Amino acid sequence: MLDVSHVTKRYGKLTACNDLSFHLDPGDVAILLGPNGAGKSTIMKSIIGFLKYDGEITVGGFPNKTSEARRIMGYIPEMPALYPNLTVSEHMEFLARAYRMENYKERAEALLERFELADKRKKFGDELSKGMQQKLNLCLGLLPDPQFLLLDEPMIGLDPHAIKELKTMIDEMREAGKTLLISTHIIDSVDMLWDRTLIMQNGLLKRNITREELDESGSTLEELFFGVTEGLDAEAMTGAASEAEETSADTEDKGKKGFWRFGRR
Ligand code: ADP
Repeated sequence: MLDVSHVTKRYGKLTACNDLSFHLDPGDVAILLGPNGAGKSTIMKSIIGFLKYDGEITVGGFPNKTSEARRIMGYIPEMPALYPNLTVSEHMEFLARAYRMENYKERAEALLERFELADKRKKFGDELSKGMQQKLNLCLGLLPDPQFLLLDEPMIGLDPHAIKELKTMIDEMREAGKTLLISTHIIDSVDMLWDRTLIMQNGLLKRNITREELDESGSTLEELFFGVTEGLDAEAMTGAASEAEETSADTEDKGKKGFWRFGRR
């Protein structure tokens, strides 16, 4: 479904994404984990086609900036971009028209109900609290029901009810065979079913690990994350260095660091 091949994105002298390569199969639920500034949003914006970069990205076999790829993809940005002079209902209608959706009303209504926005239908974008804006942002991203959905830090700013609903929806999308790429810097938020975790730091893909590989290692995701991001060599644990890691300059440090034996759960 997604192929990211040697993607590098620079902002001036800063390399936000450094030679990233990974792929997702149809139906994969992948978590993109990394501290602030790791490059998560940048790779997501590159995939969705908002940024220029070096390298290649295909979605469903099509270059990501083609209309065929765009039809398959949806994106929920970290920052809601709402129109101050459109109401909640009008936002949903606007998006449905942009995606040429017919019979969108029932799904739109169900989403607004789920995220407790139904009684805010007539409120304008700038009359919503931050949390409500975030929830509307989610409803807008979920409305077209794409085959492949990118969610950038989707839990940020949500109340506990909305977090619960979102996690339920993620499970439902998983059941329906959708492909999901979900970025977060909060490990605690990753208590959902996932198939693959990608750990980024300083623009590099430091780990690309499946759930089975993590389970076999006997370690938790938290242990892996801190092992990787705090510079301890977790390769002993996973036994599966990512392709990106093999090619990154970062691995020149391999061997200089001590091995870290992760405790059993
Ligand atoms: P994350 O989503 O993991 O927090 P980002 O992809 O937002 O990380 O940022 C990666 C790096 O790129 C950071 O150092 C950030 O400051 C920088 N960056 C992001 N967007 C821009 C931009 N538009 N211009 C310049 N630097 C940027």
